[in-house]
Amino acid sequence: MFMKKISIVVPCYNEEESLELFYRETSKVMEEIKKKVEVEYILVNDGSNDKTLQKMRKLSSENKNVIYLSFSRNFGKEAAMLAGFKAANGDYVAVMDADLQDPPKLLPEMFEILEQKEYDCVGTRRVTRTGEPPIRSFLARCFYKIINKLSKVEMVDGARDFRLMTRQMVDAILAMPEYNRYSKGIFGFVGFETKWLEYENVKRVAGETKWNIWKLLLYAMDGIIAFSTVPLNIAAILGVLFCLGSFIAILVIITKTICFGDPVGGWPSMVCIMFFLSGVQLFCTGIIGAYLSKTYLESKKRPIYIVKETNQKSRVL
Ligand code: UDP
Ligand code: MG
Repeated sequence: MFMKKISIVVPCYNEEESLELFYRETSKVMEEIKKKVEVEYILVNDGSNDKTLQKMRKLSSENKNVIYLSFSRNFGKEAAMLAGFKAANGDYVAVMDADLQDPPKLLPEMFEILEQKEYDCVGTRRVTRTGEPPIRSFLARCFYKIINKLSKVEMVDGARDFRLMTRQMVDAILAMPEYNRYSKGIFGFVGFETKWLEYENVKRVAGETKWNIWKLLLYAMDGIIAFSTVPLNIAAILGVLFCLGSFIAILVIITKTICFGDPVGGWPSMVCIMFFLSGVQLFCTGIIGAYLSKTYLESKKRPIYIVKETNQKSRVL
C-alpha cells in the first residue's frame, strides 16, 4: 500500500538544549502511527550561535529521516519556516517549535483529521496564556482585535504556528514569494478549511524565548502593514476632519468679531494648535514611510534566507 509521509519542519535558533529532547519526544509519539505514515524531520538552523548545528549533524547521522538546513546567519523564524516548507517532501507538512511548547502528542489526532479529507489544515490554539507576563497577554489580545478590524484576512487569537497542512495548502503558501513574511497572515490569506484544536499553554522545556515586548510590538506592526492598507487612509480621513474643524473655527471667530467686536486673542492657543497639527502630519508621514520602506525592501528582491550547509542532496535550494 502507498504510504503517506509527514514532514515536520522545525525552525531552531539556539536550541541546543531542547533539540534532542524534542526529537526523542516526537519520535516516541510518531511511533504510534508508524504503520500508517512515514515521518521526515526538516530541522532548520537559523544562524544559532550555540551548538545547535552540531546537534543537528549528529541527529541526522544517526537517523536517516532527519534532514537539516543551516543558514549563513539569523534570518528569523519566518524565513526558517519558508526554507523548511521548500525542503519538505511530505504529503502533509507540520510546523513545530523546538522547545516542546507545541505538544507532539496532538500529531496523531491531527493526522487522522486530515485523513478524513474534510479539512486541509489542523491548527492549534492556546486557550490559556499561563506563564506569560499579563501585560504581554493583554497586548496580544488588543493586537488581535485591531488587526481583525483592519484586515480582511482572519487571524485567530491565540493561534500558534503549530499546524499540520496538506501538500496543496503548502504549495499555495510557497506560491507567495513576498519578502516581508508574516505567517499568521499568510496562513489566513491562503484560506482552506482549518480545524482548530485547543490546548493549555505549555512552558518551554529548556532555553529561553527569543521574544521581548519591543520585538513583539515591531512584529505586530509588521503584521498590520503586511495585511492591511487601512492605516494609509488615516491621513486622508484626518485631513477631512481637520478641514471641517478649521471651517467651523473660522465661522465662530468671524461671528464673534462681527457681533461682539471681540479681538482675536492669544498666541498660546495658536502654538498648541500648531504643535498638534504638526504632530498629526508627522504621524501620517510616518505611516506612509512604514509602507514605503516595506515596498522598498520588497522591490530589492533579496533572498529571504541563504543556506550554508545541508545534508539534503536531492533538491535545489
Ligand atoms: N526561532 C527561529 N529564529 C528566530 C527566533 C526563533 O527559528 O530568530 C525559533 C525558535 O528556535 C523556536 C521557535 O522559533 O523553535 C519559537 O521561538 P520561541 O520559543 O522563542 O517563541 P515563543 O514560543 O516564545 O513564542
Ligand atoms: Mg517557544
